[in-house]
Amino acid sequence: MRNILLVISGPSGVGKGTIVKRLLSDGRYCLSVSCTTRAPRPGEEDGREYFFVTKEKFNAMIGEGGFLEYSQHFGNYYGTPREYVESRLKTNDVILEIEVNGALQVKKSHPEAILMMVLPPDREELRARLVGRQTESDEKIEERLNRMDYEISLEDNYDYIVINDDLNTAVKEIENIIKREKERI
Ligand code: ADP
Ligand code: 5GP
Repeated sequence: MRNILLVISGPSGVGKGTIVKRLLSDGRYCLSVSCTTRAPRPGEEDGREYFFVTKEKFNAMIGEGGFLEYSQHFGNYYGTPREYVESRLKTNDVILEIEVNGALQVKKSHPEAILMMVLPPDREELRARLVGRQTESDEKIEERLNRMDYEISLEDNYDYIVINDDLNTAVKEIENIIKREKERI
């Protein structure tokens, strides 16, 4: 069975982080830790959620070809460290949790990657989850909700769309997709 590169995207607050945590709990998958220029949120640790770097360091990494993909999002840069992913892919299934522009870049350089978009049952439920998470101001919440329409406009580029209504059902569906994809080649 081959190791797969699974790229998960979807609107902020849809539950990507929650789903990924559940997938990681069985120890079979490896999550790529991205670099970002955004400031850590309370409770986030360097090297765990992200490698938190300066704009200068991020630019230097771009110059060295150090990113598999990178993009600017909500005023900050985010990028997937190339070496981190390519070395782990030799021994594990690797999950990237990245936004749509980055996902499309990955599909170009790694056509075998599986692109999965996670969507909420509806916009109001997404708003409720963003409000409930208590990590963003009202203005940031509106910005993130508006971004959803752009993300959905790119859904045809994705191999799978999963609706995160009931969490257990969504996780099970994703595990079944991974199983099928691993058996495919
Ligand atoms: P993302 O990583 O996509 O920005 P999070 O994983 O941080 O989203 O989830 C946003 C909020 O929604 C969290 O408070 C999380 O507990 C909640 N959440 C995630 N999935 C579900 C679900 N299926 N039903 C209800 N709440 C959910
Ligand atoms: P947050 O700031 O809420 O952690 O993440 C904002 C957005 O950036 C999310 O949609 C997340 O998936 C995306 N993101 C995180 N890491 C990367 C990355 O390495 N590359 C790209 N292109 N997007 C990323």
